[in-house]
Amino acid sequence: MFRAVSRRLALLNAIVVLAVLATVGTATYFYLSQRIETEIDDELASRATAFAQLWATDFSGGASSAVTGERSSNAQRSPERDEDDHHDEEDDRAEELIRSGDTIAYGFSGDGQLIGDLRGIAVPGLPIQNSIETALSGKTTSETIEVDGDQIRVFSTPVIDEGEVIGAVQVGMGLGPSLEMLTFIRRATFGGLFLGAILALPSGLFLATRSMRPIRHAFERQQAFVADASHELRTPLTLIRAEAEYLQQTPSLTHAERRDGEQRIVDEVDSMTSLVGNLLLLARSDGSSVPLDKEPLDLSAVAAVAADRFEELAKVRGVSLMLAAGETVTVYADRRAIEQALNVLIDNALSYTPTGGTVEVTARRTPGAGELSVRDTGIGIESKDLDRIFERFYRADKARSRATGGAGLGLSIAKSLVTAHGGNVRVESRPGEGSMFTISLPTRSS
Ligand code: ADP
Repeated sequence: MFRAVSRRLALLNAIVVLAVLATVGTATYFYLSQRIETEIDDELASRATAFAQLWATDFSGGASSAVTGERSSNAQRSPERDEDDHHDEEDDRAEELIRSGDTIAYGFSGDGQLIGDLRGIAVPGLPIQNSIETALSGKTTSETIEVDGDQIRVFSTPVIDEGEVIGAVQVGMGLGPSLEMLTFIRRATFGGLFLGAILALPSGLFLATRSMRPIRHAFERQQAFVADASHELRTPLTLIRAEAEYLQQTPSLTHAERRDGEQRIVDEVDSMTSLVGNLLLLARSDGSSVPLDKEPLDLSAVAAVAADRFEELAKVRGVSLMLAAGETVTVYADRRAIEQALNVLIDNALSYTPTGGTVEVTARRTPGAGELSVRDTGIGIESKDLDRIFERFYRADKARSRATGGAGLGLSIAKSLVTAHGGNVRVESRPGEGSMFTISLPTRSS
């Protein structure tokens, strides 16, 4: 399930990455090409004005000195030129001129005669007669033509004197150098798309799998929790059913025997009720919704009440229960929650301490915190189990703890209750010597 979700996320990620790359690349390309075009047109317009001034005296008509010597013979170019060498040389020069991005300019008199040619090189396709005619009719035009794969931007504009069109100027410029930038952007966009297509999917899959990991772990923990809870609930249910069937099918039972059987059923139901209560508490703490009714709470008083409550049980177990709580240790906490957590620790200490041992409950103040400790001289806990005893349903010594009736939920409940207060529970223990569990609660309200 998680694999399928990761794959879908990765695919979505790849599509988004490629779409963003394509959009940004295309937008940049079009924006820049528009800008370059506008800038070139502005530049050509200002050059056209300069050439109009340069050739100002020639616009009145007739042959002109402005036509460059070499070009003058080519101005009216014969279509059947047969000097091949010269032709090739001329083409090379034209190509060079276009690629250099230098200005090419022509001036025309009012009757359409060429009166100026800046470069004197025959550039195929130039001047554009149609645009000259349009300019002579008073209109300005801009266009891009292609000559042997190279683009030339051409600007044609009328030369007006005292409101009358007296000639026209056509200015052109090879776009090569300006287009290099656009070509670069186009290549970068395609390169980016190509790289993106190759990298986005595996990297997306890697990231999705990584970010799914905590969710997967939480889900697995939840699954294990449900499985363990069902297992724990099945045991009392089986016992109840067996007991009830026995009572039902054995009419010969004495009144006392029947009453004992019924009591066992009631006990099992009680144990189930407490288990279900604990499960509910843990489920709530998972959703961070343990309802806390915080108030100023004296931990010494809490310790005294708990020691009092367990006094009888300690006697029955032959364990001496001692209290070391004198000074007032005030924290801001929910009384019932802290009592419940402390009960877990004392109950465990009494359960895992053999007859003749000691359990000591202490309340003390430390800088910034109030602490409740339960120290016992019991069986202790192996270091390999120390990290795990706060896990749900974890029992260090399975056989023994089952006999004590614990489901392995006590410490995880105590920890949830204490951490909900911003505190923590820590443990120190040596196998065969005993353990000390400490609840630490912040003294400041949070
Ligand atoms: P349980 O219901 O089994 O007592 P807990 O969550 O309270 O569950 O404790 C988890 C395990 O930690 C116990 O099964 C036991 O193995 C170990 N443990 C807890 N307290 C003590 C202690 N005071 N001395 C030795 N072992 C302990």
